[in-house]
Amino acid sequence: MNDKRIFLSLAHESGSEMKYIQEAFSSNWITSGGPFVDAFENDLENYFSNEVFVGALSSGTAAIHLGLILLGVQAGDEVICQSMTFSASANPILYLGATPVFIDSEHETWNLCPAALETAIIDRIAKGKKPKAIIAVHLYGVPYQVEAIKALSEKYGIPVLEDSAEALGSSYKGKKCGTFGDIGVLSFNGNKIITTSGGGAIVTKTKLLKDKAVFYATQSRDDAPHYQHSEIGYNYRMSNICAGIGRGQMEVLDDHVALRRKMNAFYVDLFKDIPNVTVFTVPNDDYYANYWLSAIVIEPNQDKGIDSETLRLAFEAANIESRPLWKPMHLQPIFEKYPYYGKRVAETLFEKGLCFPSGSNLTDSDRDRIATAVHEFFKIALI
Ligand SMILES: *Cc1c(COP(=O)(O)O)cnc(C)c1O
Repeated sequence: MNDKRIFLSLAHESGSEMKYIQEAFSSNWITSGGPFVDAFENDLENYFSNEVFVGALSSGTAAIHLGLILLGVQAGDEVICQSMTFSASANPILYLGATPVFIDSEHETWNLCPAALETAIIDRIAKGKKPKAIIAVHLYGVPYQVEAIKALSEKYGIPVLEDSAEALGSSYKGKKCGTFGDIGVLSFNGNKIITTSGGGAIVTKTKLLKDKAVFYATQSRDDAPHYQHSEIGYNYRMSNICAGIGRGQMEVLDDHVALRRKMNAFYVDLFKDIPNVTVFTVPNDDYYANYWLSAIVIEPNQDKGIDSETLRLAFEAANIESRPLWKPMHLQPIFEKYPYYGKRVAETLFEKGLCFPSGSNLTDSDRDRIATAVHEFFKIALI
């Protein structure tokens, strides 16, 4: 096996990151916060047409944690969360001593199912506890059912924390993901659509809320000459070096989105004549996905030895990474004791789904190798 490994999603430099890093060093701004942090926030706010405010933080997880605090979540509260997601969507609920209530996905966007969500809200209220917040996720960069979720949020007066960690560059009816929730969350982890090596951001509707998030993220220092604290503080601010990398990455965000969308189109074409495989795409033109990761669902065929695991192993033999979809939170050992509402949509997707290499830096030769691996695997099926 001489071929180099093809990964799901790797960082992709624009080429100008080093320029910013060098500038940070020569001006000795090697700290958390700093001029690049302000400038990176500005870049992002411009990207969102200055309709929102952005606070740069050390990770997307930190942004979810502070977002829940801003929404008033406290120990003993209940917080609704999409079950099919990365654990970072749900862990901050536990940091706060609150209880997660997990919800199934629907088939169209694989995100929060509005029907299961409403059943859960009604049942939790009947049990005497109105949920404090709803965490909705745009999985793999495909927007959730924005209007249906917003309508339920308004009907029951429960704010939405929009986990847009995978969806920078996606939009719904022309409006960018990250701006739909009462609070939005972005991630710039190394495997995301753009990276700061590690980092995230909180997106707010008011400057006041952004300032409050930054206050919490910088140890909640009161306005005094000495160190004075009247609230719990966190060390969650983005570093000036990371923000410099982010500034370099913002120059190529649109290109990265276009290249990931090209990978998705490649998979749609590759699987078009292969029975029992569906490539995950948006339900209609209202949705615009960055296709952070391209994913498929494969109907198993026992006779021919075809299912998601045998396909994954065939890719592995060709030194190509593929991975099952996110394992739903209500099936995870750490979360299985918490309430769950829904059927088996997320569970079935987990059983039958697979993510494929989707990075913006994949080459024609990588695509050829992927195509060959797929054709060889499905040869039997096509006879
Ligand atoms: C990556 C990710 C996060 C966490 O972001 P980090 O920056 O890695 O902390 C949260 N939610 C989802 C859905 C993610 O994919």
